[in-house]
Amino acid sequence: MQKGTIDVKTENIFPIIKKFLYSDHEIFLRELVSNAVDATQKLKTFASTGQFKDELGDLTIQIEVDKKKKTITIRDRGIGMTQEEVEKYINQIAFSSAEEFVKKFKTKSEAEANAIIGHFGLGFYSSFMVSEKVELHTKTYKKGGSTKAVKWECDGSPEYTISESDKKDRGTVIILHIDKENEDFLEEYRIRELLNKYCKFLPVPIQFGTKKEEEPIEGETDKDGNPKTKTVEKPWIINNTEPLWKKAPAESNDEAYKKFYQELYPMNFDEPLFNIHLNVDYPFNLTGILYFPKVKHNYELQRNKIQLYSNQVFVTDSVEGIVPDFLTLLHGVIDSPDIPLNVSRSFLQSDQNVKKISGHITKKVADKLEELFKKDREGFEKKWDDIKIFIQYGMISDTKFQERAEKFVLLKNVDNKYFTLEEYRNHVENLQKDKNKKLVYLYASHTDEQFSYIEAAKSKGYDVLLMDGVLDSHFVNTLEQKLTDTSFVRVDAGTADKLIEKEEATLPSRLAEEEKTAVKEAFKTIVDQKIFDVQIEDLSETEPPVVITQNEFMRRMKEMSAVGGGGMMGFGDLPDHYTLVINANHPAFYAFNEKEETAKNAVLKQMFDLARLSKGLLKGRELSDFIRRSQENL
Ligand code: ADP
Repeated sequence: MQKGTIDVKTENIFPIIKKFLYSDHEIFLRELVSNAVDATQKLKTFASTGQFKDELGDLTIQIEVDKKKKTITIRDRGIGMTQEEVEKYINQIAFSSAEEFVKKFKTKSEAEANAIIGHFGLGFYSSFMVSEKVELHTKTYKKGGSTKAVKWECDGSPEYTISESDKKDRGTVIILHIDKENEDFLEEYRIRELLNKYCKFLPVPIQFGTKKEEEPIEGETDKDGNPKTKTVEKPWIINNTEPLWKKAPAESNDEAYKKFYQELYPMNFDEPLFNIHLNVDYPFNLTGILYFPKVKHNYELQRNKIQLYSNQVFVTDSVEGIVPDFLTLLHGVIDSPDIPLNVSRSFLQSDQNVKKISGHITKKVADKLEELFKKDREGFEKKWDDIKIFIQYGMISDTKFQERAEKFVLLKNVDNKYFTLEEYRNHVENLQKDKNKKLVYLYASHTDEQFSYIEAAKSKGYDVLLMDGVLDSHFVNTLEQKLTDTSFVRVDAGTADKLIEKEEATLPSRLAEEEKTAVKEAFKTIVDQKIFDVQIEDLSETEPPVVITQNEFMRRMKEMSAVGGGGMMGFGDLPDHYTLVINANHPAFYAFNEKEETAKNAVLKQMFDLARLSKGLLKGRELSDFIRRSQENL
């Protein structure tokens, strides 16, 4: 037996590995299994190049937990190591990189360190986060010379021992003697959970435990002619070595994409809307599948459902900074060895490679959406209500995407007709023939609440868009900035007559000025003037006697401050403010001033309540009073 001391340059790093790298202890398993996978992949490469000529045999990596002995064993049948290689790779190289990692780690705040540890492989030495002793038995694939099996052992002090091992077959076995504080890793479910998280798509089969399966018994059938089955115990392979994203898009189909979605999210029972298969090898390597999920009615958007892999090893599911913000709402996987993982998030966000990758993903997503739109407009319209939130968010937050999406973003009107931006522009231009004026896009945010306003606008021959999504009010602002000669006005922002300014002469007045003033003053006595600004106008006879409107600008300010626009402070505290517009030309006012006082007041009250009813403002006692009064008049 040979003893040695690992060449410690700074100080003993083992206590640091153990104590300080606390939060991500679980990554030891990922590190060791990845090493086993690398060793196996290397052997396969050597076999294909003729450097290795023997039988490869079963290459399954085995994980075992022994609760009694308190050990976890990771066994591979990869290239193994000679004694010189153990000394070089384990004692020197692996150790100095672990040492470097610890040094880097120590200069960071705990939060920062924890953010990077999961991404930065501490490598082989991460095993000391959970072990009081680590044994390594290995036998190289090489023949002749000094190729005896070796045993390396270290108890978490810089001293290690190397001796001969009785290991017969090729490959490496790592035995972790789990320490007291980490005994939870000896629970089978815990290891299964970790394998499922980090190793689910590794390219070499990994076995952990056994699984009972029903198998047909050859030649035996039951009375209905169905094959009889028996229960057999089979090795439980925990991973899918050929995940769908690694296949060429042409080799896949809808069914397979849906199945893979279930594999990724076993707890999610919804089917995705559609997917985008990414497959790039120049100027960087990137594969993956992005799914557009079905957004639930409660608009519960889940971020961080995209999983990031590096050569099929799970790295993280918080992908901000790596994919464009709006795409964090999508589901799926991205696999790229070119995304630097050993760096902090802030570095990641400014990394040029990452920016390129991010830009590329945006482009791919836009390409796919455009293709869907062009190929099957009807199908695209059917999906629109579900995908609109992603596209709108993209257009609001990403100018590159906005440019691309202009071609396929849709506007829907209250009659469920869909238009592209260009189509809608032409449509409105035809309806609002006055070409010198700015175009006005009328919209409603709620078909029921604004029903009478929508009807009024439609009766004037206008079109009304439906903007009832969670992002629509933001999206209206985005479109207004884009379409510079167009403004958006909600249908209840004015009377149907005045929603859109026209050059035609104003309507003649049926009432004399004094009569108008009298009506207006009478109204002022029955409304709360802090909330209602009373106006009288010459509208068409067919318009209601009184309409309540809400100034577009003020309403938007209030809405924006309600969702937390700090700069808008003050607006949010204001009570809602409305304009009460009296239609001086309504027949009810022709002989109004001749009526006696109580009759006048009753009519005004009824008009005011009807207007409030249309706007959804009549509630509680006032609504109840209104109903009773109406019932008495039956
Ligand atoms: P990394 O995997 O990043 O190189 P590690 O500290 O995990 O760093 O491992 C150091 C080296 O030890 C590896 O590069 C490899 O040469 C060797 N090694 C580790 N595990 C195995 C294994 N299971 N089989 C063969 N060689 C291994």
